[in-house]
Amino acid sequence: MNTQENIISIIGPCSLESESQIFSVAELYQQYDLSYLRTPLFKPRTNPNSFQGLGKDGLKIIKKLKETYPRLKNISEVCSVEQFKIAKNHIDIVQIGSRNMQNFELLKYIGAHSNNHDYVMLKRGFCSTLDEWIYAAEYLMKAGLAKSKILLCERGIRDAAGTNNVILDLATAFKASQLGFKVIIDPSHGTKERALVLPLLDAAKAMGFAGYMVEVHPFPEKSVSDANQALSIKDFYDYLNKEQSNYQLEHYNPLESSLHRKIDQSERYKN
Ligand code: PEP
Ligand code: MN
Repeated sequence: MNTQENIISIIGPCSLESESQIFSVAELYQQYDLSYLRTPLFKPRTNPNSFQGLGKDGLKIIKKLKETYPRLKNISEVCSVEQFKIAKNHIDIVQIGSRNMQNFELLKYIGAHSNNHDYVMLKRGFCSTLDEWIYAAEYLMKAGLAKSKILLCERGIRDAAGTNNVILDLATAFKASQLGFKVIIDPSHGTKERALVLPLLDAAKAMGFAGYMVEVHPFPEKSVSDANQALSIKDFYDYLNKEQSNYQLEHYNPLESSLHRKIDQSERYKN
């Protein structure tokens, strides 16, 4: 269990959309010396018409980001061995998303090839039991990854009765942490609703988890994915400062991101 001082803090957009978008969030990340910035290149989307991520094209933005801020560390999801090979030298945490938690061949490959990364983050499948989650982590370890390099991430499970059909399952996450794993809480995907993110983040912090991951976007309503759950940079700045501010965005250019919004042809399904 962790004190607040060495908690792993991860913020950033659902999808890497544009240079001005990620640099805007990076300023907040830098200012507060947070641990990792989300720079997602490949997006596993439910609807094939939804924005699929910048993919390889996003690498030049990540390179510029790391040239500008040499100490910046980032996390991106990979959904296949091919994507891992594209991204591996440009990311510090390799994320395996909920949909791939039981992609055993991917787990074996990443487990065998990620000891030079800070961590591999294994998100809990949204219909997975505690045992299934832990077995997935064991696949990584059996392939050679040290247990200390694994971050288990609770991101909410499916529940028709829950708010927004999702329940952030802090109880199971707590049990996972009692098994000696570092557990990260994601109250963004775990609530799917902006107004619920910070209260659940506070609950997770109170329980002493290893860290958190929160979606932050310069202009959440314009986010090409998960627009309903992203916090604005000002929201998160105010949360860190514990007071209302007049935080102004300096560099965000909404036109850059709206180019990608056009790719997202789905009005009905945003996730
Ligand atoms: C994400 O964190 O970008 C993501 C897609 O999350 P999940 O795999 O939990 O849906
Ligand atoms: Mn998202």
